[in-house]
Amino acid sequence: MSKLINAICPRCEGNGFIRVTDLLGEDIDQADCPQCDSQGEVELPIELTFVNSDGGRESIIKQEEKNG
Ligand SMILES: [Zn+2]
Repeated sequence: MSKLINAICPRCEGNGFIRVTDLLGEDIDQADCPQCDSQGEVELPIELTFVNSDGGRESIIKQEEKNG
């Protein structure tokens, strides 16, 4: 069984809320992040996280996005 560890929420990037944008990409609203329940952190299996340059844990989903 995987060990779970707290990591920065990949959906809201730790903010606890997500921006809602219109079709032009303009911010029109904010919403509580449904993935972390506005906590800014989620528990993930440790093998799905990496340590970022600030020493925090992030989902490897974000790492893959950054690498293009
Ligand atoms: Zn979140």
